[in-house]
Amino acid sequence: HLDRIAEVDGTLHAFLHVAGDEAIAAAQRVDDALDAGESPASELAGVPLALKDVFTTTDMPTTAGSKILEGWVSPYDATVTARLRAAGIPLLGKTNMDEFAMGSSTENSAYGPTLNPWDTTRVPGGSGGGSAAALASFQAPLAIGTDTGGSIRQPAAVTGTVGCKPTYGGVSRYGLIACASSLDQGGPCGRTVLDTALLHQVIAGHDPRDSTSVDAAVPDVVAAARRGAGGDLTGVRVGVVKELHSDAYQPGVIYSFDAAVEVLTSLGAEVVEVSCPNFDHALAAYYLILPSEVSSNLARFDAMRYGLRVGDDGTHSADQVMAMSRAAGFGPEVKRRIMIGTYALSAGYYDAYYGQALKIRTLIARDFDRAYEKVDVLVSPTTPSTAFALGEKVDDPIAMYLYDLCTLPTNLAGHPAMSVPSGLADGLPVGLQIMAPAMADDRLYRVGAAYE
Ligand code: GLN
Repeated sequence: HLDRIAEVDGTLHAFLHVAGDEAIAAAQRVDDALDAGESPASELAGVPLALKDVFTTTDMPTTAGSKILEGWVSPYDATVTARLRAAGIPLLGKTNMDEFAMGSSTENSAYGPTLNPWDTTRVPGGSGGGSAAALASFQAPLAIGTDTGGSIRQPAAVTGTVGCKPTYGGVSRYGLIACASSLDQGGPCGRTVLDTALLHQVIAGHDPRDSTSVDAAVPDVVAAARRGAGGDLTGVRVGVVKELHSDAYQPGVIYSFDAAVEVLTSLGAEVVEVSCPNFDHALAAYYLILPSEVSSNLARFDAMRYGLRVGDDGTHSADQVMAMSRAAGFGPEVKRRIMIGTYALSAGYYDAYYGQALKIRTLIARDFDRAYEKVDVLVSPTTPSTAFALGEKVDDPIAMYLYDLCTLPTNLAGHPAMSVPSGLADGLPVGLQIMAPAMADDRLYRVGAAYE
């Protein structure tokens, strides 16, 4: 995999940092343990992985795609990082991402975009485009992403790979640099559903260091993937979300989705249409809640504790140094969201914006609850179109936001969802999104493996 990185990543730019020597050393430790007659630390021991550069690592820099953290090395490992290491998974390096996970194309990275391996004039999705491109170009067989509004599923869809956003609280956020804390969720990415399940099992589970971590047994996603691989979905009730099936989507995407529904039916699933009327407001609610949390979370980048410091020459006040550092260190999309969030949370506007958005969030959760009284999983296209061209949406933030239409509702509800490859439209990958109720992540794997 290191050879493959050397061969193709000069063009694709999936990695921000490659840790060749450390990865080899980690792989060697697995070999040594096996040679000494020890049993492997996990089923994935020795299988290398690409880690999104938003999880802290003590042996590599962590930038979150931002200049404000350029060169910063964390004094501690994220829980996800620690679990990967404990499972004997060598870390190949850190992958590119939109700055602080804000974006849908990886073009908001301060270190330049990642290209889609299927067509290098196109984006690999975002914010986890680096992890998805690394998988799709065979630079890594496994990767980790984070999904606040779709950043695992959407890049998976447009690169022909698998990505799962677990139930909120299912994977620890400790050491995951925060974007929007009530939405952020780390999760596994792979090229097959079973690979993704094996990785899910390694990283999921309760962590006392994350106050929102779920203290319950992890659903048996590996058994579910193995069961699903048999291809029998008899008795599984699948709901097609009416509001996520639109004439406005690319015709090839709808064609692929309708064909996927026929496949599910042929596997024995019982397919019905369900309506979730409040999904139409998900985008508006998300783009108030997310910036509000961002404006609060990113206050910690104050040039005093860590990261970039500009104007520290004895002629500026602490306030000026802080303002100059943030002006220089944050990119335009991050600044836009900090300003929107600060406005939405300000006294006098709070009820009109943030308060309203929270009510919508509750209504969306109720739509899901009603749907899951009738069905076991919901399905939709993962994205409204295949990968778009580099530069196409950079000057139009609303067009960029609209690309997340299908993935946002599950984040607002805290539910798990997965994207699995669903063929090609006009020569480019399409993803099928599968959604399930909280703590029913195993259903995603069963249905995903059967469909795959
Ligand atoms: N594209 C969405 C955003 O820009 C989702 C990002 C994410 O999931 N991290 O907020």
